[in-house]
Amino acid sequence: MTNHDDHSHLSDTELRVRSLESLLVDKGLVDPAALDAIVDRYENKVGPRNGARVVARAWSDPAFKKHLLEDASAAIDSLGYTSTQGVDMLVLENTPSVHNVTVCSLCSCYPWAVLGLPPAWYKSFPYRARAVKDPRGVLREFGLELAPEVEVRVWDSTAELRYIVLPERPEGTEGFTEEELAELVTRNSMIGTEKAANPNAGDS
Ligand code: FE
Repeated sequence: MTNHDDHSHLSDTELRVRSLESLLVDKGLVDPAALDAIVDRYENKVGPRNGARVVARAWSDPAFKKHLLEDASAAIDSLGYTSTQGVDMLVLENTPSVHNVTVCSLCSCYPWAVLGLPPAWYKSFPYRARAVKDPRGVLREFGLELAPEVEVRVWDSTAELRYIVLPERPEGTEGFTEEELAELVTRNSMIGTEKAANPNAGDS
């Protein structure tokens, strides 16, 4: 059912970006360190924080959650984050009995609008190959050991359809504000390689 025919445009884009970057660096127009800082910002800060706010809203507002599960693109757009990459978005809800994990087995399709730039491991061959064949093994390497009765669902992203995992709301967060909840939503929890952070972790 997945159609990867359109993925080649991504590597084409990557090639163009790379050529452009080396040209700019060669001409002394940009500083590679400054570029790295920009990439880091989009990979780790700006991008995933948008997704985290979407998740926190879904945890706090049942009507928004329903909208998000039914029509993710529209629900995300309603918060002002553009999801218009010309692709549809689907939100996958984790429950005590179902754990979702996302991958692009062929390249690196990723919900940029809400998660920013994909981490290097997401684009790596071992993750792309093994997330499909041995998701439990991969999750274990991320430190996530799932009980045998939990069903693991792997979703292969395409250029047209991208996924965000809606992680389970951690226990002990009943009184949390949306902002406090968003702090618990890690990038990896929206890819499905970990759970949302436990606010009580570290307390002992
Ligand atoms: Fe892809």
